[in-house]
Amino acid sequence: MVVEVLIDIAARALDAPFSYSWPDTEGAPQVGDCVLVGFGARPALGYVTAVNEDAEADENTKTVTEVLTRGLFDAAALDLARWISSWYAAPLISCLRLFLASATIPRLKKQADGSYEVIAPVKARKQSPGAAPGPLINEADRPARLSDGQDRALEVLSAALRSAQPQAFVLAGVTGSGKTEVYLQAIEQSLTAGKTCLTLVPEISLTPQTVGRYRARFSDQVAVLHSRLTPRQRANEFARIRSGEAPVVVGARSALFAPHHDLGLIVIDEEHDSSYKQNNSPRYHARAVAEQLALRQGAVLILGSATPSLESLEAAREGRGEVLPCRKLTLPERINGAALPPVTIVDMTREFERGNRSLFSVRLQQGLHEVYERGEKALLLLNRRGFSSFLLCRECGFVPHCESCSTSLSFHATNNTLRCHQCDASFVVYERCPQCGSPYLRKFGVGTQQVEEELKRLIPGWSVVRMDRDTTSGAHAHEELLKIFQEQESGVLVGTQMIAKGHDFPDVTLVGVVTADITLNIPDFRAPERTYQLLEQVSGRAGRDRLPGQVIIQTYLPQEPAIEAVAAHDPSALYEEERRLRRELGYPPFGHLCNILLSSEDQERVARFSQELARALRDDVASCSPEVQVLGPSPCIIERAKRLWRFHILLKSDRALPLGPLVSTALKSLGPARGVNIAVDVDPYEMM
Ligand code: ADP
Ligand code: ZN
Ligand code: ZN
Repeated sequence: MVVEVLIDIAARALDAPFSYSWPDTEGAPQVGDCVLVGFGARPALGYVTAVNEDAEADENTKTVTEVLTRGLFDAAALDLARWISSWYAAPLISCLRLFLASATIPRLKKQADGSYEVIAPVKARKQSPGAAPGPLINEADRPARLSDGQDRALEVLSAALRSAQPQAFVLAGVTGSGKTEVYLQAIEQSLTAGKTCLTLVPEISLTPQTVGRYRARFSDQVAVLHSRLTPRQRANEFARIRSGEAPVVVGARSALFAPHHDLGLIVIDEEHDSSYKQNNSPRYHARAVAEQLALRQGAVLILGSATPSLESLEAAREGRGEVLPCRKLTLPERINGAALPPVTIVDMTREFERGNRSLFSVRLQQGLHEVYERGEKALLLLNRRGFSSFLLCRECGFVPHCESCSTSLSFHATNNTLRCHQCDASFVVYERCPQCGSPYLRKFGVGTQQVEEELKRLIPGWSVVRMDRDTTSGAHAHEELLKIFQEQESGVLVGTQMIAKGHDFPDVTLVGVVTADITLNIPDFRAPERTYQLLEQVSGRAGRDRLPGQVIIQTYLPQEPAIEAVAAHDPSALYEEERRLRRELGYPPFGHLCNILLSSEDQERVARFSQELARALRDDVASCSPEVQVLGPSPCIIERAKRLWRFHILLKSDRALPLGPLVSTALKSLGPARGVNIAVDVDPYEMM
């Protein structure tokens, strides 16, 4: 017999299985087994992807040396890995690896004498024998009654779960409307019907708070998967899921790849969140993979959010997305009947005209004083993704840039250094401008430290907790800071977007946004949508409990639809405008994009290869998919990073035509690109 083996080496050139024979009738390798084979002059690990019982091996076919581990994945996982590989133009082996718990795979180690030794994997924990227990649901944990919205949503979801047809629902529920309770009760129904369930949450929301709510309802039937598990813990959770001991899985995006079987329900909470897109290869989006998983398993997919993505809303509006039928369910009211907090927009250009040079408008200063005097709590958000303070010469306009990247250096007051956010190089702060010699160098832009300092000047003695990249670098720093803020009577939490997500602070009565528009200036077609989502999410943190809350947003662009949408808690005008623009420009959800990033230390080489690739793509497009546009190559917005010169090619197609295979074909036709890194990003979210 002949088996197809995918060699465990990630290289585009090797990315097809090789045939090996198995001479015996006994112990034959099966799909999902890890085997040892000879590959060229050396041994290699590989995974069996097909078995052909009747095929005759010819005399050139090598034999499988040894079967090392059985049953690492099943045919369903392989099929989904193939979809990811094709759609995202990523090597199949790296897609298959997503599904493998690293602690369960053997390794090959080169010895001093040049030979190789197989290192056996650790044994996963022993399984508790016997049949899986029936559903254990702690009914006492349920609220006494559901809201009308929850009732209606669950009625529709129950019918869908009973029908066992794959389909999607957008659950659009304002912050505090009880979406999680809807998930929990849908999971109960799914469990009772003998099905398993998967809930995805953004990594940052995977807090003890979230996990606690699932454990309270489903006790130890819950498996939790996140990036801080050790390989062994992850393997143990995989084993509990595979055996049926843990039919309720909660995790970050990679939980999609656990050994699921009989999935009845997949929930993606905060479905608009950009962390669902993986930003290294394979660059998959969890929503797209979840749709494929639901399709294959006949599961219901719930996409929950207070600020759903335009993609999901469009699918629901049309009655179906590209993969699944889709409907929208709404929870229009907060559980306790509390109103959404009123939002005040402050036009900062007026403040400047009035002579107020402070970071805080008069209105925000008043708000902070009131909260302080009442002994309550406030959140202050700095919206500045990727942009922070920099140094500017007031006489000649010089801004220091990193020597190996083309980005401006950001200023860090803690150790008085200039740092590059691309390559992390740091430099001492100049005393005088290197261009004109002027001593008038000004720190420009706003950092969390400046907000903290200004707050301390405004209200001396008030407790300020600051949360940003500098203060949260330790493993648990994040949770500790939140705990400090949570436990104190009164105080302010200052931070970047990380404070906007996932945490419930019932006693916050004021949310202030210091700089609302910075993300609007990012060259990204999703900038208005994402700015709205962030501001609406952070607004929802105010007044969640008995005390009423208020929101104050400072902006230089008060008329922007994204800002007006937050002020009205109504994105419909913004989304109408965005739909129109994106339809016109062929952006998602009305078209597909693929961004190919090429980089090299050698500028000429990368420029030349980019040209060749663009030509190969244009040739392919001309012959078989004329509806695809090939734009570029052009230098990236960030032209140089980490000493690498960067170019990109953008593909655009105006219908559901997969771009991944097109790119794979073009790359294969060119052969290996020496000294050039190639990153293919299908359905990209960042294009800097
Ligand atoms: P969301 O996820 O929509 O922001 P949550 O699910 O966190 O909202 O619910 C907000 C709060 O309301 C939680 O403390 C939750 O326990 C509570 N809650 C949810 N549903 C009900 C209900 N039917 N009756 C009473 N309290 C509820
Ligand atoms: Zn100067
Ligand atoms: Zn740099």
